[in-house]
Amino acid sequence: MNTIEARSALDLNEIGQEMYQLMTRLYPICRSITGDGFRASVRLLQQHIPLEIHEVPSGTPVFDWTVPKEWNIRDAYVKNARGEKVIDFQQSNLHVVNYSIPIHQKMSLVELRDHLFSIPDQPEWIPYRTSYYKENWGFCLSHRQLQSLEEGEYEVYIDASLEAGHLTYGEYYLPGQTGDEVLISCHSCHPSLCNDNLSGMALATFLAKSLGQLSLRYSYRFLFIPGTIGAITWLCLNETQVNRIKHGLVVACVGDPGKSTYKRSRQGEAEIDRAVKHVLKHSGQDYEIVDFSPYGYDERQYCSPGFNLPVGSLTRTPHGRYAEYHTSADNLDLVQPAYLADSLSKYLAVVNILENNQKYLNTNPKCEPQLGKRGLYGALGGQKEAKINELAMLWVLNLADGRHRLLDIAERSALSFDTIQTAAAALLKHNLLQVCLA
Ligand code: ZN
Repeated sequence: MNTIEARSALDLNEIGQEMYQLMTRLYPICRSITGDGFRASVRLLQQHIPLEIHEVPSGTPVFDWTVPKEWNIRDAYVKNARGEKVIDFQQSNLHVVNYSIPIHQKMSLVELRDHLFSIPDQPEWIPYRTSYYKENWGFCLSHRQLQSLEEGEYEVYIDASLEAGHLTYGEYYLPGQTGDEVLISCHSCHPSLCNDNLSGMALATFLAKSLGQLSLRYSYRFLFIPGTIGAITWLCLNETQVNRIKHGLVVACVGDPGKSTYKRSRQGEAEIDRAVKHVLKHSGQDYEIVDFSPYGYDERQYCSPGFNLPVGSLTRTPHGRYAEYHTSADNLDLVQPAYLADSLSKYLAVVNILENNQKYLNTNPKCEPQLGKRGLYGALGGQKEAKINELAMLWVLNLADGRHRLLDIAERSALSFDTIQTAAAALLKHNLLQVCLA
């Protein structure tokens, strides 16, 4: 039995600060689904975990899709007739529609307006827009900024390139005792947006870092990929190995103050679905569990019918359900170290269940063994917990018939997995249980 230690409050506080610092360094980089911003970001993660960087050439067919041209941007602005920059990419990379083609042209405000995007309901925020699969250009700006533009001629400049190149992704494989894998996947293609994508990148990095120090039963595969096209590309290139994935989670939106939300895998009642549900139920906090739908993040690809992998998604407030989503307000103020740390502790608790969810055999199945003579009565924890621990031992002894796993026992007894695991460890130590490998 290999307990993934529940981290102390002090430790979690520190790790939350470190995750936040990593996000702060990633924040200014202009990422996209391809290009140097993505490369710089995964290289930065290499300072924490030894991830491998893969490059897939533009034009590579991946199932029904094609790896797109590589996009890179150096500068962009809109100048008014007086030569003043009224929109400036250097102020925020959200100002340029992601994947805009290069342009340098003078035009009237009427012509320019067709390429400007704002949010009238949130006049101070800049929206995040992309045009990946249709060649176009555009600028995003606050509605207040848009309304202040005067009639006249504007100079539009986007110094970008959209050329044959590569799609980049980061992959970190952490080998365990078996080749069975747990997949942790996060999209890493958004520019300066914090909850939607940087929080997921930070959590996946620090989860990998935490697990890297342990001896584990499962092997763990961490993917830092561009949304949609990255998952499709990875699945296409690794199709023959996908059957090794026994459990998986898509990480995103894990740093906001909202309650934890779990979106089930398409299978619905897979071990990962039950493990996450158990952790949230025993977290002492409000939470929500929603059924799978073919809309959301990369679980859409992992759970497509040709793969149907047991991959769910554990977030806080899901995409599209917070006002700041895909706007400049999804910034370093929205995400806080304490929420990042709380999310990480839940991921670690899920991993602990997966790692220790074994079957056992009661070595003394005819009537109850005498616990008192083995010093097992009141042996674990204080007086208050003695009753619960005794109950947990009785449940484990009764259901350790080679058919029930520890999570089955936890669910049936309504006790926490930790309590059941502690009881099983004590019984194992007194040779009242043996591991059932079948
Ligand atoms: Zn997004």
